[in-house]
Amino acid sequence: MSSSNTGIEWTDKTWNPTTGCNKVSPGCRYCYAEALTERFPQNFPHGFQLTLHPERLEQPRKWRTPSRIFVNSMSDLFHKDVPFAYLQEIFTVMRETPWHIYQILTKRDQNLAELAPKLEWSENIWVGVSVENQQYAHRVHALRQIPSAVRFLSCEPLLGPLDLNLEGIDWVIVGGESGREHRPIKPEWVRDILRQTRETNTAFFFKQWGGHHSKAGGRLLDGEMWDEMPPAWYCHVDRWQKQKSSRQRKHNGLEPRYLISAK
Ligand code: SF4
Repeated sequence: MSSSNTGIEWTDKTWNPTTGCNKVSPGCRYCYAEALTERFPQNFPHGFQLTLHPERLEQPRKWRTPSRIFVNSMSDLFHKDVPFAYLQEIFTVMRETPWHIYQILTKRDQNLAELAPKLEWSENIWVGVSVENQQYAHRVHALRQIPSAVRFLSCEPLLGPLDLNLEGIDWVIVGGESGREHRPIKPEWVRDILRQTRETNTAFFFKQWGGHHSKAGGRLLDGEMWDEMPPAWYCHVDRWQKQKSSRQRKHNGLEPRYLISAK
């Protein structure tokens, strides 16, 4: 369980150069990462204690297909126990693999705001904060200050209505909680967030209603699927497709320079 393709709808792969965490707000109550460490103790000898995995640092360099990579689905990259030098190493790998998009999601907005100016960002590094109810909407303010190409919110598990300031925010993901003791989401909360994204031209992604398991309630909101991604994603895909076609043309000997020299 070091890294893999994932069923999380808004990403392609997960990369966990750290695992383990501790709870900071109500959204953490039924933490999925903690549940996995309990279910597969053989894969997590340190349990849910924050653990560095330097042997995983190089993994994204080996993934040649451009992918969206969720960084630390099993932890929080801005946890206070992640040494700054280690964080810098993770950022170096992300900068040096520009064919991927990295999606960092944190609940530690203060650490993020404090450390972000000391880190070197590149356009393939996106960062988001979790906002599960109005009490934690202040995380959006910290996020707005971060010099990342894309800033996003994960409102999952959504635990109440949200009145958001979406200035400077590119993407909002919403989802209901899943699991035996899931706290139910209300359709009017989701519709209201959708309305706020329409008014501010922000991409909207509805991940799930949740329920006893993540697929239980499906993903339709009033009969529609909401899978929007921020414009930066489509630019990224376009750029890498063009590079791939160009490489293919070169491989097939169809580059203009070959045609000219053939005259
Ligand atoms: S911050 Fe994320 S990984 Fe950490 S305990 Fe909370 S939900 Fe789990």
